[in-house]
Amino acid sequence: MDLFKTMAKEGHEQLVVSTDSETGMNAIIAIHSTLLGPALGGCRFWYYKTFDEAATDVLRLSKAMTYKAAVNGLNLGGGKAVICARPSEKTPGLIRAFGRFVDSLAGLYVTAQDVGMTLADLEVVREVTRYAAGVPEDKGGSGDPSLMTARGVTAGMRSCLKEVFGSDSLRDRTVAVQGLGKVGRHLAGLLHQEGARLTVSDIDPARVKVVAEETGAKVSPPARIHTESCDIFAPCAMGGVLHSATIAKLRCRIVAGSANNPLANWSDASLIHRRRILYAPDYVINAGGLINIACEMEGYQKDRAEERVSGIAGNLSHVFARAKEEKITPLEASNRIVEERLAKARAGQPGD
Ligand code: NAD
Repeated sequence: MDLFKTMAKEGHEQLVVSTDSETGMNAIIAIHSTLLGPALGGCRFWYYKTFDEAATDVLRLSKAMTYKAAVNGLNLGGGKAVICARPSEKTPGLIRAFGRFVDSLAGLYVTAQDVGMTLADLEVVREVTRYAAGVPEDKGGSGDPSLMTARGVTAGMRSCLKEVFGSDSLRDRTVAVQGLGKVGRHLAGLLHQEGARLTVSDIDPARVKVVAEETGAKVSPPARIHTESCDIFAPCAMGGVLHSATIAKLRCRIVAGSANNPLANWSDASLIHRRRILYAPDYVINAGGLINIACEMEGYQKDRAEERVSGIAGNLSHVFARAKEEKITPLEASNRIVEERLAKARAGQPGD
């Protein structure tokens, strides 16, 4: 009953559970909203200890996808899937069974790659359903979305700089990048090309070495990267890194990165705001990968995708303008923009 209450409160449409005894596939698909279009969102392959833990995660992630698509003007809804298994239990048969599960929803949910799933897994899913996006380039898809995510974050940073300093130039701006994985490494490269000065950090020393060599970045220990004095702190690792203790130690003017859910709680956006630091809402600035996948669904053209990803700058400026006008935080402003778009769709009014 608690699950029904949670879903009703957060506005979820469906939570669908499937098992396949032959392959050991146990998976859940959460559809938060199909008001704006099919619910698109990645599939996470993860070992959850309990059903509740998996359901909570997939519900939360699917809602974030609705917000990400809506605020960036995409005609897509929000969904997400989790396959509950240990990495050693992954077999093509199990992945195919998941693909059949996706197919059974007849396009209401479109799957993509997320933590624990590879592009090769997605190709296996594609063998049994057409409702899989973000497939490899040589299969007519848009491939790994990380570079587009990094491009979108760079565009968003420009809009933050314009807001705070009156100029969107990255030249000689200082940026502290936390996490040098698929997105962080691309981001460091793009910022370096634009003339920014970097401080970088990762728990994997090999990744730090590569990026420091490529960009001449200064290196900071993982425990201290958020305390570096800089113009922009860019969280590009795990979620939940910004809470009262870490926010108190920030020495930046802007927080703008790719990490999903970098705030431990949405209310922490107010703490950042009170410190006069500009926070770029995560689901606005990190949507480059999603926008890229949305372009694939319309017939992929790289130039068109790049142009649409660069639109993140304008979307963020719109959020900042609304925040100033209504004297609220940028996160509250972007939430309002999403909720209004969904309300319009619910009322059957044409979108903007
Ligand atoms: P990734 O797993 O490739 O990289 C994450 C990196 O962070 C790794 O190198 C890891 O070693 C490092 N890391 C972990 N904990 C750290 C810590 N405490 N300090 C410093 N480094 C740490 O993931 P990714 O695909 O680059 O994604 C990064 C973030 O961006 C995630 O939050 C992800 O959800 C989000 N995101 C990614 C995409 C995409 O296109 N890949 C799109 C939208 C959002």
